[in-house]
Amino acid sequence: MDMRLFFTCMLLNVFTGLFSQETIESLDDLNFDKMPDQTRQHYWLIMTDDGMSQPILVPIIIVKGVGSSPVLGLVAGIHGNELNGIKVIQEVTDEIDLPSLNGIVIAIPGLNRNGILQNEREFIDGEDLNRIFPGKMDGNRSQQFVWQISHKILPHFDYLIDMHTASFGRVNSYYVRADLSDDNMSKMAVLQDADIILDSEGAPSTGNQSSSTRTMRAEAMLKGIPTITVELGNPQVFEKVMIERGKKGVRNTMMWLGMVGGEIEVNTDTKFCEKSFWIYSDVGGFQELMVQLNQVLEKGDRIAIIRDPFGHVLKEYVAPESGVVIGLSRNPITMSGDRIIHLGILQN
Ligand SMILES: [Zn+2]
Repeated sequence: MDMRLFFTCMLLNVFTGLFSQETIESLDDLNFDKMPDQTRQHYWLIMTDDGMSQPILVPIIIVKGVGSSPVLGLVAGIHGNELNGIKVIQEVTDEIDLPSLNGIVIAIPGLNRNGILQNEREFIDGEDLNRIFPGKMDGNRSQQFVWQISHKILPHFDYLIDMHTASFGRVNSYYVRADLSDDNMSKMAVLQDADIILDSEGAPSTGNQSSSTRTMRAEAMLKGIPTITVELGNPQVFEKVMIERGKKGVRNTMMWLGMVGGEIEVNTDTKFCEKSFWIYSDVGGFQELMVQLNQVLEKGDRIAIIRDPFGHVLKEYVAPESGVVIGLSRNPITMSGDRIIHLGILQN
């Protein structure tokens, strides 16, 4: 490169903070033993191949302190339209004070690369990656991609925080799914300082997949890795408040693990739910919601009214049990079988 061009580029970098991606190495495996201590490294991890014979690359941030444990995994974007966690990872890994870090953070700011590029929850073949673990070495597109996650990424983690948001057309409170019968996972859940903690075993998902397939959280738990799912607000947006709350949860977790110093801050009046379910409409029309996120409901409280196109009331829905509103639909147009609210049933 001509020296004038070089200095112009340097100057541009100073003013814009631009960073040349040419310097980022692609790796076939995460052998971080060879990586120097007290560094923040960025890599592309090679997963499967696309139809142009190019590797499908996933961004990996490795922040290495002193010692090789614990290894905290942070994953965002296994659902391609769930973005808040990506920003949590970018900021929280950048803010770690390297000289005082113990252990290693391995963070993936955007796991479902193809879904992210298409603004879609699913992988390129329309499959939900978070329902088909452990994947298959010789399976279809999404199964092979998930197989790579199961074998190249998960085994490195000692603890895992998997970051999600609501699905398209719905909004969520800031809530955590965790198996509260386990002390480590219960503690990790509390440290997120969330509005709601939902006790959830992470058992294999049945759905329309084979009953042997499961979520990434369930797969990690089977490998003995304490794992929680954090639901950070809404899809396809960066929400400042959710990002800050997510970062606080990660920082609290790192303090608890002894990875960084500082004082754990948990000050939200978190509600604990023993189970949850969605309430679905059984008529079609225009839905008017009468409740808000995090609202506590008594059995019989009105939750929604559905009207026909002329404004006549077709049906009123009430809470079938007392509970708290975890999530809700934000699309008024409602077919039979559409979701109205996600109701959490409070622990006694
Ligand atoms: Zn998700």
